Amino acid sequence: MLDIVAVPAFSDNYLWLVHDEASGETAVVDPGDATPVLAAAEKRGWSISQVWNTHWHPDHTGGNIVLKDATGARISGPAGENIPGRDVALSEGDEIRLGAHVGRVIEVPGHTLGHIALIFDEDRVAFVGDTLFAMGCGRLFEGSPDQMYGSLQRLTALPPETQLYCAHEYTLSNARFAAHAYAGEAAISERLAEVEQRRANGERTVPTSVARELATNPFVLAPNVEEFARLRRDKDSFRS
Ligand SMILES: [Zn+2]
Repeated sequence: MLDIVAVPAFSDNYLWLVHDEASGETAVVDPGDATPVLAAAEKRGWSISQVWNTHWHPDHTGGNIVLKDATGARISGPAGENIPGRDVALSEGDEIRLGAHVGRVIEVPGHTLGHIALIFDEDRVAFVGDTLFAMGCGRLFEGSPDQMYGSLQRLTALPPETQLYCAHEYTLSNARFAAHAYAGEAAISERLAEVEQRRANGERTVPTSVARELATNPFVLAPNVEEFARLRRDKDSFRS
């Protein structure tokens, strides 16, 4: 089993520490800042041997070099992007390993053009960066609506119980937008109420699951790319 720990950073990022007890190996996904990651690993007696990046944005890669200098970690990231300190360039179909756990790389362009996700099929775990968020999706900084819509469809084609580890706590604002876009949809208003409660208690709302996103994510529910593009534009200007 993979032991996955959320390390909060900046205002709303989650840097994910991933530990395999059997091999003693530890990876960190998208370390925008090295300091909290090193502290969280040390607290558990874990030493970081790998860094996995989903895309180039500094809040996902800013800690790469410090981590590499401090731990000697090997850095794997998307082949199509500029990744500080990268040792291994990842493309569609490539494998990553943590002990005996095998992950595969899929390309999910949209937020950035080279964005990748890491899928551990047997563990039913996926690290999705800034592509899919709980009840939302990443902004289209580089890619087209068509690309992002396709990327979301790929992620939500994974088995329904798959846990999706996204990189930000955006769920409350996403849920408010979803309730506005799909007024009267019971599953969405129920989830909004749950998210409000959890955030009021200072709890995390991620990871999410494929099943929950299929039921309540407006961008996944969009029946076609035109509707997806309209929703994405509306969300960009929505103030909850
Ligand atoms: Zn980003």
